[in-house]
Amino acid sequence: VHYDDKPIYNITIEKDYSKLASVIKEQVEAEHKVCVVSDSSVASHYLDAVMDIASECVSKVTSFVFPAGEASKNLNVVEDLYEHLIKEKFDRKDILLALGGGVVGDLTGFAASTYLRGIKVIQLPTTLLAMVDSSVGGKTGVDFRGYKNMVGAFHQPSAVYMNLSTLNTLTEKQYYSGFGEIIKHGLIKDMEYYSYIEKHLSELNSRSLDVLEEVVSGSCNIKRMVVENDPTEKGERALLNFGHTLGHAIEKLMNFSLLHGECVSLGMVAAGYISMKRDMITEDEFKGMTDMLKTLNLPVSVSELSVDSIIETSKSDKKMDAGKIKFILLDRPGNAVIRKDVTDDEMREALSVVLL
Ligand code: NAD
Ligand code: ZN
Repeated sequence: VHYDDKPIYNITIEKDYSKLASVIKEQVEAEHKVCVVSDSSVASHYLDAVMDIASECVSKVTSFVFPAGEASKNLNVVEDLYEHLIKEKFDRKDILLALGGGVVGDLTGFAASTYLRGIKVIQLPTTLLAMVDSSVGGKTGVDFRGYKNMVGAFHQPSAVYMNLSTLNTLTEKQYYSGFGEIIKHGLIKDMEYYSYIEKHLSELNSRSLDVLEEVVSGSCNIKRMVVENDPTEKGERALLNFGHTLGHAIEKLMNFSLLHGECVSLGMVAAGYISMKRDMITEDEFKGMTDMLKTLNLPVSVSELSVDSIIETSKSDKKMDAGKIKFILLDRPGNAVIRKDVTDDEMREALSVVLL
């Protein structure tokens, strides 16, 4: 399958690093160079292993490591990376490996999209969120003067490679946060996938790599299908914003003290509640959804925030179309629809369920 005349990249998922060398060799010839970009925490666990494997593939491997955290996702760090690449004489046939979570992936992808007008990047996601969401789809970018993801580009990876055993070193909070997007994928597109998760909650709580393999590949496939039908976000891709309209507002207002997936969980509860009130899903389906979120340690309610501030903040967000908020609702679990007629009163009522 092709779109925009570009071949679609492969996603490789495994439980150790056996196939990494062959994935790299497919993208770069032996006489060229590889730069592994990572953050300080991920590098302490996995940089040596990845550098060793890359060294089997090409003549020269360098690394660029920046301090872990969202605060590094900015143009200054991108400039430092450009400088490193220039010093090391990287040209258009050399490639970047983005080893880390969404911060590393977004920043490295953006640098790859602009350095010499574009070089290849292989995404090597190491957080659950990056595996099921940010590494797939080609959105790259950095934060700018306090505005999140304000500067960026669409730049598809040449390949995506994930070693699931890297998930073992994630903190509980980071791990469970990834399930916000995973449950979202099931709810908006695939009831069978959603039921699979529901049946394997205890294995997911114990980080069973066999079950994670099914879940991660299922989620990637859903994200990829939606994105490939709509690579530059003109229509269907909006469905991925389920739980994000209010979730993003909550994330902003909490000053990012809750993780993204936790805010998406809260946003999904609110959007699910509106769907239930409109008789699009049943009470049981709504309850099943909130139970699943709770079992995966995701919040379904939050204190400290006011309804008005959330509504106001969500209206100033990007997801507006001719002044109307674009809301994603469920017309059954497994199928999402876009609605522009959600009223302030409906949002108020839904938020009162989520706010303590
Ligand atoms: P992150 O990259 O900051 O990673 C979270 C923390 O976990 C970091 O401290 C990191 O060092 C550490 N870490 C990563 N992998 C680890 C591992 N295997 N073991 C131990 N520690 C590890 O955050 P994230 O949640 O992965 O990604 C969030 C970012 O992704 C945000 O900037 C967001 O804007 C972006 N994002 C992008 C897209 C997209 O489509 N491009 C989609 C969703 C989110
Ligand atoms: Zn998200």
